[in-house]
Amino acid sequence: MTKASTHAHNPFEEVNEKVKKAGEFLNLKPGLLDVLTSCEREVVISIPLRRQDDVEVLTGYRVQHSSARGPRKGGIRFHQDVDLNEVRALASLMTWKTSLIDVPFGGAKGGVAVDATKLSVIEKEEIIRRWTRSLVHVLGHHRDIPAPDMGTDAKTMAWLMDEFHRLEGFQPACVTGKPVELFGAPGREEATGRGVARIAAATLTENGKKPKGATVVIQGFGNVGKFAALGCEELGMKVIAISDVTGGVVDKKGLDIKSLQTHPTLANAEVSERVGSSEVLEIECDVLIPAALGGVINESNADRIKTDFIIEGANQPITSAADRILREAGVVIVPDILANSGGVMGSYFEWTQNIQEFSWPIDKFRRELDSRMEKAFGQTHKVSKKYKVDLRTAAFIVAVERVANSFELRGSLV
Ligand code: NAD
Repeated sequence: MTKASTHAHNPFEEVNEKVKKAGEFLNLKPGLLDVLTSCEREVVISIPLRRQDDVEVLTGYRVQHSSARGPRKGGIRFHQDVDLNEVRALASLMTWKTSLIDVPFGGAKGGVAVDATKLSVIEKEEIIRRWTRSLVHVLGHHRDIPAPDMGTDAKTMAWLMDEFHRLEGFQPACVTGKPVELFGAPGREEATGRGVARIAAATLTENGKKPKGATVVIQGFGNVGKFAALGCEELGMKVIAISDVTGGVVDKKGLDIKSLQTHPTLANAEVSERVGSSEVLEIECDVLIPAALGGVINESNADRIKTDFIIEGANQPITSAADRILREAGVVIVPDILANSGGVMGSYFEWTQNIQEFSWPIDKFRRELDSRMEKAFGQTHKVSKKYKVDLRTAAFIVAVERVANSFELRGSLV
């Protein structure tokens, strides 16, 4: 399959640099590294969308990075910046994430290059139904299982499931992140943010700091940001600033997240201090959680970040160059493949429940999520001490070793 060309800030190349670094520690053969840095399948589709009395053609994607450890798993993003290299990077990250947390999935990702905030409900439904129809031959509960990501949600997944059923028959495990009333799992919606908050608290404790009273700043007030904020509050931390695409709000005494949630966007919230969507990242705090877009911490602002700990709620929020600058400045960074893995862990629980046609109570879901994430956190720290490396390198060593072993055990002759 095609490999991405090398140029600055190519997100797929950035992931592959980390895979190659892990490969050096693991002494992997060059050919095996080539396998792990390529995508198994890439499908690009056109999606004609009715616009008043004309048609606009959108581009949609599904990239399947690896099936070495199980059916491919990964979200669908609706965002105007979606392109093939971003989808490849996100698909590859899913392979490493599912491996790190040790669930029986591979990695995939999908997307449509469209501004989700400008779509009507009907347009969104049309797009996801068309996306599903065009890709049904590569999807399925034992082939490739989509889930929500930026710009898509439980409702979008319900439409996807419905379209899939029309074509292939009843198979609720064909997609995760569905509404609880429609084969979704209680706990899945909050799972990513809950995991982010717990990882933040565990990181503070691991470094001899108390979570109680620790100040937290979050970029993003969508699925991940919202539940991360609520989770941090629940664990005694103080969220002093948060932003969405319309801008941010600040209160050094601690924001009331539940009341902020009642507004459609943060622009409507009544607060005394405001900050820009990007500037929020530069507020002094104990814990910074970027939970919106990729590449938001880069060479242009890395030296203005004033925090001790960064928990990557979003995928790839820090570029490789910024990562080096921050680590040299002593900032502890918990990488995306560990920090935001609660989402795919929750998806795994939903998938297994759908297959067994049995549902767990939310307490069991939360207990399992917390204990499995603690395990991955502990393993990553152990490997970071063993190899004397940062947490990102350690997480990739654990993840890459498992996928490489599975690939070799399956037999590499075709
Ligand atoms: P979402 O669409 O629910 O929310 C995105 C948030 O980011 C919104 O508050 C939006 O206003 C804000 N935002 C958009 N553009 C922005 C900008 N330019 N500046 C500041 N804020 C901006 O998306 P989500 O599901 O919360 O995903 C956020 C990130 O987390 C993505 O990188 C996604 O890949 C990653 N992630 C999501 C999940 C999940 O389960 N949803 C799991 C793992 C990782």
